Amino acid sequence: MNPKHQPAPRRRVFVDMDGVVVDFAGYLFDLNSARVLLGASPLSADDMKRQRGAYVAMPPLPGAIEAVRELIAAGFEVWLATKPPTGVPWAYADKVQWVLDWLPELARRIILTHDKGLLGSSSDVLIDDNPENSRGQRFPGTLIRFDQQMHGWGKVLAQLLPVSIEAAMPLRERAFWPSEQEAA
Ligand SMILES: [Mg+2]
Repeated sequence: MNPKHQPAPRRRVFVDMDGVVVDFAGYLFDLNSARVLLGASPLSADDMKRQRGAYVAMPPLPGAIEAVRELIAAGFEVWLATKPPTGVPWAYADKVQWVLDWLPELARRIILTHDKGLLGSSSDVLIDDNPENSRGQRFPGTLIRFDQQMHGWGKVLAQLLPVSIEAAMPLRERAFWPSEQEAA
């Protein structure tokens, strides 16, 4: 096949789940508030992770679903990349169920991994609130540290959407891409 007729590679954006699209902290807070009201002791984050159904019940962060869909609409190839709790097999399934419930268009774009450094290439993007938790600091592309307190998805979209047209262009034709690794 003539290389000119091959589809151009699209820029991939790997999106962490907990703390980026899933309101993990908010769910834990609400769960423990309810438990205290009922006279039960609060759960640690690790204990909560082991509860069947916990990852299905977590709500999305405000604006996150819409933001992911904006990235998709802008031409980025979006993947979800999440580290499941080690040794808790139902949590793996619960995370997949969450995606089917909230972002079914990404049903074939789910990566469960303890090592996000294995993902992507130098032209790709990782959005993660705690990259060191899953070796995301070794990601070879652009790392965007997500901070819900510091403008969250609004800041991410402001960085990525201006270059979205280039997301669908062959790498050699791209004129601009922020190459800096954003500091925390
Ligand atoms: Mg996270």
